[in-house]
Amino acid sequence: MRILLIDDDQQDRRSVIRALDKSIVDFDVKEASTAASGLELLEKSTFDLVLLDYRLPDGNGIDVLQEIRSVEGKGVAVIVISQHEDDSFVEECLDAGAQDFLLKDEVNTRRLIRAVKQAQQRYSIAQALNASHEKLRLVSERDPLTGLGNRRGFQLAMESFSRRVDRGDCNLALLMLDLDDFKIINDRLGHDVGDQVLLEVAERLKKVCRDEDYVCRFGGDEFVILMYLDREDDASQLANRIVDLFQQPILLDDFEQTVTASIGIAMLDDIENTAENYNDILKKADIALYRSKLSGRNQASYFSEKTQEEVLARADMKRDLQWALERNEFIIFYQAKINSKDLSLGGAEALLRWQHPRLGLLSPASFILLAEETGFIVEIGAWVLHEVCQQLQQWKLKGQLHSNRFSMAINLSSAQLQVDELPAQIKAELTNSKLHANDIDIEITENTSIDSRIRASGLFTELANLGVNLALDDFGTGYSSFQHLRLFPVNQIKIDVTYIAKIGVCPKTEKLIMAMIGLAKILNLSVVAEGVETQAQSDFCVQHQCDFLQGYFYSRPAAAEEFEKEFLSY
Ligand code: C2E
Ligand code: CA
Ligand code: CA
Repeated sequence: MRILLIDDDQQDRRSVIRALDKSIVDFDVKEASTAASGLELLEKSTFDLVLLDYRLPDGNGIDVLQEIRSVEGKGVAVIVISQHEDDSFVEECLDAGAQDFLLKDEVNTRRLIRAVKQAQQRYSIAQALNASHEKLRLVSERDPLTGLGNRRGFQLAMESFSRRVDRGDCNLALLMLDLDDFKIINDRLGHDVGDQVLLEVAERLKKVCRDEDYVCRFGGDEFVILMYLDREDDASQLANRIVDLFQQPILLDDFEQTVTASIGIAMLDDIENTAENYNDILKKADIALYRSKLSGRNQASYFSEKTQEEVLARADMKRDLQWALERNEFIIFYQAKINSKDLSLGGAEALLRWQHPRLGLLSPASFILLAEETGFIVEIGAWVLHEVCQQLQQWKLKGQLHSNRFSMAINLSSAQLQVDELPAQIKAELTNSKLHANDIDIEITENTSIDSRIRASGLFTELANLGVNLALDDFGTGYSSFQHLRLFPVNQIKIDVTYIAKIGVCPKTEKLIMAMIGLAKILNLSVVAEGVETQAQSDFCVQHQCDFLQGYFYSRPAAAEEFEKEFLSY
């Protein structure tokens, strides 16, 4: 057994060695007469036990013990030997990490050997305890799925990161990352696949982060990264690298899945650096993340006061939207569709407005997305359908629609297309208001993501079978105009305002408009020009036989009474 004996008194060292020599155990004793030389020996070689004199010329026992304990990788049992003892003194030594305590007077073979054995045993028990504590600690700070840190780990990491920021001149950034559409992956492909995706995301994040960054998963598909900033743009650089990471699809069992991520970034500067405020930096990153989602996902945004205001305003609007229907705050505006042949009234488009109690009259741009996100759009859409059918019936009953064919266009959002009862709902409204199916046009914007589920549901065939007209709105702005024409029983296309606005300005766009009209003619579809604002635009559309014209040049969208006054009073 290798023993390190640290004692400045040569006499005392001799008596210890003599006592050890008398034992049957073989001891290899190295001697040191000062704390410094003892520590040096301990660092250089390995010992099973240290016998430490409490009083040394260059340090007292407690200090030396603490230094012994801090020698890395040199865990060793320690017995303190002293001239005298009192209870508090012994306790202090044990607290500082000694395994036992002996009086110099007591040093004899039997006492010494027993103390050595016990000290070794105690030391190994303490070691085992420490190890299992450490294991427990790691488990409690880790996410079991990915092995990354968890919320608790984050809290601790945040404490140590922010302490370093307090000390030095670096800053700290927090990146909050959320996968786009992860819920859909989980729901459609199952949780096992979802877990595979999360594991791969964790691997990729580890790869792209520096060793000193702290990456953790808060549960679900929410990841958080803490990083020191050496340079101002470190955080956005990392965010860009992460967004790039997701360019590569994730390889699952037998297929590839494209996953994108949205990121919110907040700095420690954004909050006061105290432990109570750590949740605030998370909130701010969350707000920035929300901004990224709003701006189209698959990108990173920084927190700012302005973002915060926007997000709060949206939260307000979301709350208000809940009550808007009940409080009767929605209104339908009507905009005329003009026949290009004789400039007579050919129909109208119903356009939703919200008379907001504080913000005034709002157009759909400011609330439709939110209504879609929250699902309110389904109820609102049902209300629009009802309201418009009722209005149309009234105008019919009053005999105000003289033209042979007046069609009312109603906009549907993609969320409404997912409702199985939609055709039945439309049919019921038509019956209710004694309208023919071809009195109404259903407008679906080309950018609506018409996924395979909707396609498979046979919805469009059902709508066509009902006899309602189907119009493809904002034509020319989507990525798959032809695909839409091929897949759906469309009756009409509405050339998007961005094309009409270029008439007289961009010859190439003019040619595209002509081509679209030609295409529609071949396919037997009617064509509407949207957003006609000038005589020149109108002339161009008339000349190229666009069937209907809609735009401020003829009339602005207006409430029912005004529309009636302008177009339906003879
Ligand atoms: P949209 O279906 O493309 O409707 C045409 C938009 O162009 C309307 O905006 C209309 O006011 C505007 N507009 C009309 N003439 C002109 C013009 O000469 N120049 C310009 N620059 N714009 C013109 P609005 O009313 O703000 O509606 C915006 C969008 O909101 C609509 O675009 C439609 O997609 C959606 N929307 C409107 N009502 C409803 C609804 O009841 N349900 C659903 N789901 N969406 C609706
Ligand atoms: Ca429309
Ligand atoms: Ca449109």
